[in-house]
Amino acid sequence: MTTPVRWIELRPGEDADAIRAAIDRVIERGWFVLGPEVEAFEAEFGSATSSRHTIGVASGTDALILALRALGIGPGDEVITTALSAVYTAQAIMMTGARPVFADLDQERLTLDPDIVANLVTPQTAAILPVHLYGQPADMPALAALADRHGVALVEDCAQAHLASSNDAPVGSFGIAAAYSFYPTKNLGALGDGGAVTTRDPAVADRVRQLRVGGQVARDQHTDAAPHSRLDEVQAAILRARLSWLPGWTERRRELGQRYREGLADSAVVLPPELDPGHVYHLFPVRSDRRDELRQHLRAADIETLVHYAVPMPAQPAFATAAPAACPVAEQVCGELVSLPLYPSLDDTAVDRVIDVIRAW
Ligand SMILES: *Cc1c(COP(=O)(O)O)cnc(C)c1O
Repeated sequence: MTTPVRWIELRPGEDADAIRAAIDRVIERGWFVLGPEVEAFEAEFGSATSSRHTIGVASGTDALILALRALGIGPGDEVITTALSAVYTAQAIMMTGARPVFADLDQERLTLDPDIVANLVTPQTAAILPVHLYGQPADMPALAALADRHGVALVEDCAQAHLASSNDAPVGSFGIAAAYSFYPTKNLGALGDGGAVTTRDPAVADRVRQLRVGGQVARDQHTDAAPHSRLDEVQAAILRARLSWLPGWTERRRELGQRYREGLADSAVVLPPELDPGHVYHLFPVRSDRRDELRQHLRAADIETLVHYAVPMPAQPAFATAAPAACPVAEQVCGELVSLPLYPSLDDTAVDRVIDVIRAW
């Protein structure tokens, strides 16, 4: 009898009591939207990520939309982004009215290739939007230099990269603004939806604060049409409780990544590279040109896997109006990727079993 290995565990564990206490505190106070918990979380998350300003919003997608809108990006603008990410990255660009321009990936890192981005910059380019995919920082020094040279904004999608760093500098500190998601599966997850914009620019922070409350600039004065997008007090209180565990959870993710790395060295799968020790292992996607067979083999051993992502973004019907993009690297890896179980409460025994089953394949 072997124990099944689940792909993720979302039920709170060691943090369960702290979460219940946080929820009770909000219930007792009776203040549910834009109150003391959100304000405290914004300060605490800002300090954890070395961000000057943090604005809690309703989701990671909204964080991207509001950050781009706060920078004045909209119809007529182009935003260059990666061909491989959760679709929400490019959907956020579309929802500002701007057009996503997809760039292919660095073969090894699987994030935006700065040389390809350089060739896609036009007079319409308003921003470059890299994603720190799977917890691995994109090539930020090169992308920041490129954005600087062309005078375009750099906005970071940090939804998979809480506490990650690139060359010892925290992600989110390279661009003018960054977006985080607290969707339950992320490295810092709420018990529902949530997100945040971080920025070093006080004017951008003020704009996001206005946009998250329906474009309200003063009482009874609204200058923009914008949906309500607020992190609520219950989720903020939960995130505050969990934030104290996040450094330890991040270390545990790195340990598990290392365990997979050692156990799967010279096996039949291609391992994700660790190009920077600031990698936070949101996911551990290995690659195989017989991906579906490998998943079937793991499933037969009661080991769950998922695919991130099966379809490159330029191939999504949602982006049919975007610039047609040849992204051969993205197309190839989408047929090869399989994400192995990796989360802080996963034990060594389970990881060793996954390793053994893959080695026996
Ligand atoms: C999860 C995710 C998003 C969207 O965040 P939501 O909170 O689900 O809206 C955006 N970009 C990336 C890379 C993500 O992983």
